[in-house]
Amino acid sequence: MSSTLVTGIGELLTCDGLTPDLLGVRHDAALVTEGGRIAWVGDACNAPEADRRLDVDGRAVLPGFVDSHAHLVFAGDRAEEFAARMAGHPYDGGGIAVSVDATRAAGDDELRSLVAARVAEMRAQGTTTVEIKSGYGLTVADEVRSLRIAAEFTDETTFLGAHVVPAEYAGDRAAYLDLVTGPMLAAAAPHARWVDVFCEPHSAHAFTADEARAVLTAGREAGLGLRVHGNQLGPGPGVQLAVELGAASVDHCTHLSEADVEALSSAAGTTVATLLPGVEFSTRSPYPDARRLLDAGCSIALATDCNPGTCYTSSMPFVIALAVREMGLTPGEAVYAATAGSALSLRRSDIGRIEVGARADLAVLEAPSHLHLSYRAGVPIARALDLPD
Ligand SMILES: [Zn+2]
Repeated sequence: MSSTLVTGIGELLTCDGLTPDLLGVRHDAALVTEGGRIAWVGDACNAPEADRRLDVDGRAVLPGFVDSHAHLVFAGDRAEEFAARMAGHPYDGGGIAVSVDATRAAGDDELRSLVAARVAEMRAQGTTTVEIKSGYGLTVADEVRSLRIAAEFTDETTFLGAHVVPAEYAGDRAAYLDLVTGPMLAAAAPHARWVDVFCEPHSAHAFTADEARAVLTAGREAGLGLRVHGNQLGPGPGVQLAVELGAASVDHCTHLSEADVEALSSAAGTTVATLLPGVEFSTRSPYPDARRLLDAGCSIALATDCNPGTCYTSSMPFVIALAVREMGLTPGEAVYAATAGSALSLRRSDIGRIEVGARADLAVLEAPSHLHLSYRAGVPIARALDLPD
């Protein structure tokens, strides 16, 4: 096991939550990694010896981004649907069927290489952990296949058999719900850490509050943690359900009542509101009000929701820039939400922060400060820092 001393850090963001702004900004700092973990953090003048030295030449170093919501196991794309939407056709979740057909038709190796390319694209933009959902298979065999492939790339795998009701069950929703909460869940659970459901009464393809409760309860009984897609297309029951059931995250949170914000505030630290502004960008919709959530004391996270329909971006820096420009966050608040905030939504304390014992998952910027992530929007300044070991 060899150690690496990282020096020349222009600005170190620890995101350890110990300073009033939570960012833990340090100058003239250095750190040592060993065996894939952070072994030491401190002033450069006190740095210990290490087996090798990596000088980042004045660049900013921060925790690698944690993309806690992504749908990477799919084939094909829906660029034409995006173009149609930009021409004025509304989105209601129906286009998912197009991706289901393409995914079912793809071979294992094709799907695997598509996921590998997307994960590499993320890493090239500073993301070091990604959650990957199933949800474009929607048969027992295709959901298990999606989760097996996802598990080759991440520990954070999520069973999303309840993404939409597939076309072949359109006339019998109850039968599909029985499948998702029965044999499909039983086959998927060994390959998943989480269960998720698209709880959205504004889409005929998604699931009602009662259906979502059945999915989540069954998933919990199978040993899975809970995540919810909620309150995306309009006001809905997703947030209240997520808080009631102690879900780790409720994602989208675009349309929130005062009661929803109060529920999320009372559940701070337990249920994270994960905001996915790339979706609002790509569907030309109003953005969630991140400022309102933070001011109410809620825990928030940022993620891409990378998927072929509503948001085909893999870029956490883009999401950070949107959060600052469109959602009322400061640059620092957005970075924190994209690192420690999204780590909390995965109930992880070993990622999303730089402290002794945490994973040595680091991002480096072609810039002296984290402010540049939103200030230089669209410029590829972030990448994961590759360390020997
Ligand atoms: Zn999603």
